[in-house]
Amino acid sequence: MPSEHQSRREIVQLGRMLHEHGFIAATDGNLSVRLDARRILITPTGMSKGGMRPADLMVADMNGRRLKGKREVTSEIGMHLLIYRMRPDIQAIVHAHPRTATGFAAAGIALNQPLVCEVVIGLGQIPLAPYGTPGTPELARTLEPLIPDYDAILMANHGVVTYGNDLRSAYMKMETVEHFAQITLVTRMLGQQQPLAHGDLEKLVAARGRYAGVNSAAPMPLHCAIGSGALEFPSPVPTNGKAAPQRATLRSRSTLRPRGSVVPLEN
Ligand SMILES: [Zn+2]
Repeated sequence: MPSEHQSRREIVQLGRMLHEHGFIAATDGNLSVRLDARRILITPTGMSKGGMRPADLMVADMNGRRLKGKREVTSEIGMHLLIYRMRPDIQAIVHAHPRTATGFAAAGIALNQPLVCEVVIGLGQIPLAPYGTPGTPELARTLEPLIPDYDAILMANHGVVTYGNDLRSAYMKMETVEHFAQITLVTRMLGQQQPLAHGDLEKLVAARGRYAGVNSAAPMPLHCAIGSGALEFPSPVPTNGKAAPQRATLRSRSTLRPRGSVVPLEN
């Protein structure tokens, strides 16, 4: 496990990368690292994550109380603590508002189509949690059902949270989510998608264990939204906080089209 000193430097570096990639604007976003069983290192509220110094970071306990640092901890600390409590394997968390992925989250569309093999291996799919007011327990409640099974979650009308067994892997997942959102957007602009076939998905699921950094806690559910006719877009999730999160299922083999059949999009 990296020292507190190393973690401070890495949070500063990756905060700058979030800003340089346009994943955050103004004082958006937050990053944290688990220091030990009782403490986390987390970014402060009210400052650009692109221009932090190591001394700007805060140490908090698992109840969110400030232990070290002069600033206020991020108002999203409840989300970070919930993820650390529910996922003992997770050592670091990144929250940001990357443009394209947040656009999908604002449109009520999960990124759960098996369109790119590396994304299937690394993340499986990226579900969409219903809207919850930032900085309140409501937000944590919307994420709670998804945290055990997924390492990246779209937050409706808000942004994205990713987490991993170190800060770099949590950050890389954020890049993957945004990159995949851009690819998905292009398929929508082209008006057709060619999702991976069931047999190919099974091979990718079997291959996951061979890839470093793939440590989702649960078997990966995969979504193939190919029905008996044209490709279906998943319907947007109502964002009143009452809707169940979009979760996908692997459909039976009989409903799947063979690979190579290109299906026009209907909307
Ligand atoms: Zn946010």
